[in-house]
Amino acid sequence: QWIYLDGQFVTKEDAKVSVFDHGFLYGDGIFEGIRIYNGNIFKCKAHLDRLYDSAKSIMLDIPLTYQEMEEALVETLRRNDLRDGYIRLVVSRGAGNLGLDPNRCPKASVVIIVEQLAIYSEEAYKTGLKTVSVSTRRNIPDALNPKIKSLNYLNNILVKIQSNLAGAGEAIMLNAQGYVTEGSGDNIFIVKNGVITTPPCYLGALDGITRQAIIEICHKKGYSIKEEPFTLHDVYVADEVFLTGTAAEVIAVREVDGRIIGEGHAGPITLNLLEEFRSIVDKDGLK
Ligand code: PLP
Repeated sequence: QWIYLDGQFVTKEDAKVSVFDHGFLYGDGIFEGIRIYNGNIFKCKAHLDRLYDSAKSIMLDIPLTYQEMEEALVETLRRNDLRDGYIRLVVSRGAGNLGLDPNRCPKASVVIIVEQLAIYSEEAYKTGLKTVSVSTRRNIPDALNPKIKSLNYLNNILVKIQSNLAGAGEAIMLNAQGYVTEGSGDNIFIVKNGVITTPPCYLGALDGITRQAIIEICHKKGYSIKEEPFTLHDVYVADEVFLTGTAAEVIAVREVDGRIIGEGHAGPITLNLLEEFRSIVDKDGLK
């Protein structure tokens, strides 16, 4: 396994960053999780747009141009001879002194890790996930804008801990006003009487690339799709609930806080969207 580390390709054992890196000390940095399908970097442009926008927002100077970043991704895949898998792209503020001031870090650090990926079994896509809602609240825009995919994942980790303790596969996060926002690492959709709804990002959801791909598919296929706030009650009484994310793709939720959703397995709209999604994944990307 070859890892891209600041312009060099190093082995897993040699892929080390400084303890003075502000990504390590303060979570000061950003990242992307990207899928490779059949040698194709799925939605590469959308991921790099989100990365460079996140960087601009936190005044992080990425030391590679957009094109150099694309080339680094492609070269990392080539070196690893990987045609299907997952890319983790991390840009941290880089090594500096102790102290929050990013001016102490002269150069941001870029890491690209590629790996095989298998998170859910094919069976899980049919049975759906057991989930719980959790007490940890999503960051809201006046703190850290949810559109920034930053290295600050501590509340997502607290969410994961809570869902593990409840024996659930994923969790549903609310914002401080009690509106549903997203999962620990996925966006959420509900279906009621044929209408599909997902929370608007301003409530506290990452603008997921898979979320956008599903919205596009809904428009193309003539499904009714809305971005509107909803509460846990709407989730409990939905006909179908599903989560979307780069790793998870489109996965049904069969249970939320002990309430069985619909028939208690993946519903027809969820399965149809999964099928449509899988039919485009190796056509829309960077070769
Ligand atoms: N929400 C959070 C908090 C995430 O970390 C992710 C994963 O990146 C998502 C949603 C889904 O986004 P995407 O579809 O871009 O992977």
